[in-house]
Amino acid sequence: MSLIRHVIGGVETADADRTGPVFNPATGQQQHEVAFASTTEVERAIATAKAALPGWRATGLVKRADVFFRLRQLLVERTPELAAIVTSEHGKVLSDAAGEISRGIENVEFAAGLVHLLKGEHSEQVARGVDVHSAKQPVGVVGAITPFNFPVMVPLWMVASAIACGNTVVLKPSEKDPSAAVFLAKLFQEAGLPDGVLNVVHGDKVAVDAILESPDVRAVSFVGSTPIAKSIYERASQNGKRVQALGGAKNHMVVMPDADLDGAADAAISAAYGSAGERCMAVSVLVAVGDVADELVEKVRSRMHGLVIGDGTDAASEMGPLITREHRDKVASYVAGAEAEGATVVVDGTTQQFDTDGFFVGVSLVDHVKPGMKVYEDEIFGPVLSVVRVETYDEAVALINANRFANGTAIFTRDGRTARAFEFDIEVGMVGVNVPIPVPIGAYSFGGWKNSLFGDSHIYGPESVHFYTRSKVVTTRWPQPSESQINLGFPSNH
Ligand code: NAD
Repeated sequence: MSLIRHVIGGVETADADRTGPVFNPATGQQQHEVAFASTTEVERAIATAKAALPGWRATGLVKRADVFFRLRQLLVERTPELAAIVTSEHGKVLSDAAGEISRGIENVEFAAGLVHLLKGEHSEQVARGVDVHSAKQPVGVVGAITPFNFPVMVPLWMVASAIACGNTVVLKPSEKDPSAAVFLAKLFQEAGLPDGVLNVVHGDKVAVDAILESPDVRAVSFVGSTPIAKSIYERASQNGKRVQALGGAKNHMVVMPDADLDGAADAAISAAYGSAGERCMAVSVLVAVGDVADELVEKVRSRMHGLVIGDGTDAASEMGPLITREHRDKVASYVAGAEAEGATVVVDGTTQQFDTDGFFVGVSLVDHVKPGMKVYEDEIFGPVLSVVRVETYDEAVALINANRFANGTAIFTRDGRTARAFEFDIEVGMVGVNVPIPVPIGAYSFGGWKNSLFGDSHIYGPESVHFYTRSKVVTTRWPQPSESQINLGFPSNH
């Protein structure tokens, strides 16, 4: 069994006092050990990043951009290899893994435009002979802490922009599927990134705590579950760091009576069960408005039996296993408890048998779900779709706006006026109109509201340039020595 090691200063390393298991979720077998970094190892990674900062900051912008152009090409060429790594440790099907790599490439493409992105402003002659300009400078060493569900895309959300902006990075990926981050670090190295600019440390709370406590880490980007996001936000800001911490979700998809119900049912199935529901933008609540509910539930139910669940490496599989056995059992417990809460289990995927020890579970549909039930309130993060029935558009909006999560939402309708009202009324960070998973393209920024994001910057895109830079404003004057005089008055430009 191989040991997955940290990458510090371009070198794979591990003192490996503590390790954790890495499973293949499709077989249920442990396939690797991953080193868990000690505080000392993380401090060494931070010191390495700090030492690499002056050189990287001073590297010309065009040269920096070259790294991203080369990285893009490498990611495209090596997608099958990287997708296979993702599938073997995460479990998602290969096409889904390739999809996440392709979305991550958008962030690399955005970063390749850094020469444009880092332009400052200039105002000539704000007073006689006085000019003002602004510059965007790196914040310093950035800590990046990522979840298991997108082991390539979410690290790229952070590190592409952070590095483009002249920072150096210590990335702490999920310990459940850590190999993709090591592969990414090697691709960055092959693309010409100097050693020490991107470092990877594996581990658990010990590693994260070392990042949060280090005075040399100036900014922290986190993506993960809400309780951890909240605690990271509080601790990092208490320690004087800039922080953005993206949390969990409960994404509602509203289906209006005028919607194309077949299209809505197809979209609900794809968005609820794709990647086994382990997407932060997965649809987990279908809100049926008016008299469409019975027909919509039937259309969804009838499509579920055709889904092929199996090993992600099998081209026929549409959905793979969950990440761990414990998570699979927790997901199943929500379906098991739903009837007792007053809901109706229309399809119970938890009884489906699989001829393997992998962490598989079938797809479930639960109708007549209401706020207050556990199946509604918690982020289940598995292939369980709840249906909430409401009478009116206003009730649908009130339901969503009352939810503590506010990552993504969508409305399915053929009426532009309703769609526009929804866009205006809904208190959620990312909205889709006949688009079930409205993840913004790389040129916009991604982020939810309320308990789905702590901090004030969304991730990747233009807001990431703001997050990963400090602006400096310079006022200049080149007077003749003869113009010099003493003046204790308050300097005014009028
Ligand atoms: P998680 O919160 O368990 O772990 C995220 C990261 O935090 C990992 O690197 C983990 O090692 C670390 N961590 C775990 N416990 C910690 C602790 N006590 N102290 C410090 N660090 C700790 O999340 P996960 O299970 O890996 O990922 C799934 C969650 O991520 C879901 O809630 C999902 O909605 C969320 N997510 C959100 C977004 C978004 O953009 N909002 C995107 C992807 C995933």
